Amino acid sequence: ALRVGVLALQGDVREHLAVLRALGADAHPVRRLEELSAVEGLVLPGGESSVIDKLARAFGLFDPIRAAIADGMPMYGTCAGLILLADRIDGAITGQRTFGGIDARVARNAFGSQTASFETDLDVPALGEPPVHAAFIRAPAVVEWGPDAVPLASLSDGRVVAIEQGALLGTAFHPESTGETRFHDRFLSRVHSRRGISAPAL
Ligand code: GLN
Repeated sequence: ALRVGVLALQGDVREHLAVLRALGADAHPVRRLEELSAVEGLVLPGGESSVIDKLARAFGLFDPIRAAIADGMPMYGTCAGLILLADRIDGAITGQRTFGGIDARVARNAFGSQTASFETDLDVPALGEPPVHAAFIRAPAVVEWGPDAVPLASLSDGRVVAIEQGALLGTAFHPESTGETRFHDRFLSRVHSRRGISAPAL
């Protein structure tokens, strides 16, 4: 089985572990460097991006995660996790940093307080039919992206809510909470295709 991790500093870690295990992966929480070194791919959960950022630095995981991204380790970020994978953020709290890797600018809490949470059906051509039933919870949106980043889904107002660059995938919504497994599947196929291309380098 593919051995993958879910960054387990804060956020909806258990939901991701459950989806990954249901798909046959050998999924483990990651809180320490040794645990990061033992996985072939990493999910960054939803939660609060500024808290995950602080804890990652406190746990000595910030630079190692950046190194893993630079080394090509596949990662999938949902919501706060998408924020953490973006090179640039709007609405960051003072000192907030991201791991980066996706050449994009993401606006935190992009949907305001009235509609901070909503659900909708999204067309995601890369995943085919049926549309994705997506839950947005104080969600970010991608407002700008570079030539190497590929938008996978947008809302009717044009804001991008799923994006991919190389081995990195991010969604503004939470498939792990609506029974949607195709994004996790896509992440796992990236992990699978990377096997044999490069050995873990941490
Ligand atoms: N608003 C949160 C943040 O900025 C993200 C919300 C979520 O992950 N559900 O990190």
